[in-house]
Amino acid sequence: MARSSPSPSTTPSVPLCGRCDAVCCRLTVVVQPEDNIPAHLTTHTDAGLEVMARDEDGWCVAVDAAHMHCSIYDSRPDVCRRFVMGAPYCKSIRSDYTDRTARGIPLELF
Ligand code: SF4
Repeated sequence: MARSSPSPSTTPSVPLCGRCDAVCCRLTVVVQPEDNIPAHLTTHTDAGLEVMARDEDGWCVAVDAAHMHCSIYDSRPDVCRRFVMGAPYCKSIRSDYTDRTARGIPLELF
């Protein structure tokens, strides 16, 4: 879920973070006990799970919107570390985001 600069040698079809609105950072991020996330960045679901808190637009509060990157990248939750840019799940949520945005359909939060 890191934002990176596109490589000039990379083809446009590769879903680089630098060409994305940090869509993955709108997903529910469950914080594990071994994660070391400051408490003010987390909240709890009705089911009692500790998750990354989200702002009013649905993005994780750790997103640095000014620079479009994760402000806690070096200590981000394990689930964020395991999210693979360009893998099927990444492509799927980006496709859904692009489709909904193009049709003016409000995004659903997961
Ligand atoms: S912790 Fe960082 S990488 Fe994980 S969802 Fe939040 S902004 Fe994205």
